[in-house]
Amino acid sequence: MFLSTIPRCLASPPLGWVNEIMNTNVFILVEGYVKDGGETVQSTVTLIQDGETNLIVDPGMTKDPFAIVNALTEHKLTPDDISFVIITHHHPDHTRHMGLFPKATLIDYSAKYEQDKWYDLPTGDYQITPHVKTMRTPGHTKEDITVLVSEVHTIEPNKLVTVGICHLWWYEGKEDDPTAQDMIALRESRKKVLGLIDYLIPGHGNFFKVA
Ligand SMILES: [Zn+2]
Repeated sequence: MFLSTIPRCLASPPLGWVNEIMNTNVFILVEGYVKDGGETVQSTVTLIQDGETNLIVDPGMTKDPFAIVNALTEHKLTPDDISFVIITHHHPDHTRHMGLFPKATLIDYSAKYEQDKWYDLPTGDYQITPHVKTMRTPGHTKEDITVLVSEVHTIEPNKLVTVGICHLWWYEGKEDDPTAQDMIALRESRKKVLGLIDYLIPGHGNFFKVA
């Protein structure tokens, strides 16, 4: 699923990125769903490309066990090319395949994990690459984060947009969350996220516009 893919030159590139073509893209590798009253689930798996850095969000349960690898192949990537894996929360339908990427740093709501290193991220707010960061947004679980991807520029003509990826919504149109650990926190987190994004990628559905 295509969201964005045209190279963009930064007018004022930050130090270290001088003269590089910047290119912030977001692709849905696997579109999630929920069926049979929750007994059949597939996670929405997202690929973010920020410049030369490849990040995967929620490599979870998929009907086809090779779905994620096959989707990466279409982008001319292998699991070795993934530098970061981010999980929005710790439910297995969103973490099932997080071990698939041997070179990736794993990031969750409170830490990043590299080989045998465990680095705490006490606030849960973490700038991963120039255009990708995480933010603590409890509700579905207490350990939920939202991934924010800024300056995605080809979804709308002549407009840079911000995309949020999280499990505060299961899919477009789903107003409530019957399994939320804390509905009050979930509603507060939704308000916070809606104030920051233009498009949302939910836990088990396709992306949609929020404003
Ligand atoms: Zn889920």
